[in-house]
Amino acid sequence: MRVVYTADHLLHDPPSEVTGGQSIPAYEVPGRAESIRTALDADGGFAFEGLTEHGAEPITAVHDARLLAYLERAWREWRERGTGAPFIMPDAFLHARLREGMGDVREPDSPCGQAGYWCFDTATPIVAGTYRAARSAVDVALTTADLVLAGERAAYGLCRPPGHHAARAMLGGYCYFNNAAIVAQSLAARAREPVAILDVDYHHGNGTQQIFYDRGDVLYCSIHADPARTYPYYAGHADETGTGAGAGATFNQPMPAGTTDEQYLVALDRALERIAGFGGSLLVVSLGIDTYGHDPIGDFALSMPVYHEAGRRVAATGRRLVVLQEGGYFVPHLGQNVRQWLRGAEGRPLDLAAQTVMGPSAASRAGRSTSRRGR
Ligand SMILES: [Zn+2]
Repeated sequence: MRVVYTADHLLHDPPSEVTGGQSIPAYEVPGRAESIRTALDADGGFAFEGLTEHGAEPITAVHDARLLAYLERAWREWRERGTGAPFIMPDAFLHARLREGMGDVREPDSPCGQAGYWCFDTATPIVAGTYRAARSAVDVALTTADLVLAGERAAYGLCRPPGHHAARAMLGGYCYFNNAAIVAQSLAARAREPVAILDVDYHHGNGTQQIFYDRGDVLYCSIHADPARTYPYYAGHADETGTGAGAGATFNQPMPAGTTDEQYLVALDRALERIAGFGGSLLVVSLGIDTYGHDPIGDFALSMPVYHEAGRRVAATGRRLVVLQEGGYFVPHLGQNVRQWLRGAEGRPLDLAAQTVMGPSAASRAGRSTSRRGR
């Protein structure tokens, strides 16, 4: 399988985040993508290539152009007029009820005010290299889509930072631009056919859902932790099924804590059944691995072999697959889990023995790797 990768992701290296009221080391770190790169490289069956630049137009086809403009200038303005902190993080948010009954508000001039105008949480710091890395992640995703439109049955984009929490005019959840939504929009326009999205990240892809909620030409199917107990809290319930022309084109399956391989595969089959009943030949997969039993953020109980089976079942739909990386935070096994999923999708056997699972020390060495591939 062809894999699109860029070392530009290393430029996005936030030191910390605030989650659950605690300042903690960031979970969304460069070592994640390097763990995946290392595992796929050692497999020998994956061909790496760099990205092609696609410009701003595919981004503004789904995002507010002002969000793009904000991210482009945010770090420069923070350095000139911000608090001096090593990363941008809001200290106030544009809460939906702050201006209840008072109409819209204009974007503030203050760098802190702008941060809270565009971002919805305290887990998505912006550092000097964030914009470059996020733009490149979009290009990785679009280059992966190009490969599939050019005839590949399936291709994998090693996107970092991830994208599925970023909405039309909002960033958050470690996400700045919505890589999968940008690709789905681009595919729908270029292939002139409906496009399905399967989001298997542990968290609900609130951004992807929001972007396509009133669209009937893009199906959004998500299997995720019940938002009643887990981030992003305010979207992802089963009764959210789309609106207007998009009525019925959103399919959420919130899952309980401790979800097992067996429960998961039942939900996956339901999603694939929904996808089979939808038009078109293309499927964008938001591949999150934070469903893994050892994940420090998630509470599912999935094992490594189930990722192979999941990849196999998704490929068995016969659709052309654009597989894009989303979350997954147990770095020592992250690369192996992605590798098993992709091997399953390619019809290659599960391989737990050939490559020993990367231990924490090896994973951390990989995280510091300076090797350059692609751009
Ligand atoms: Zn996630």
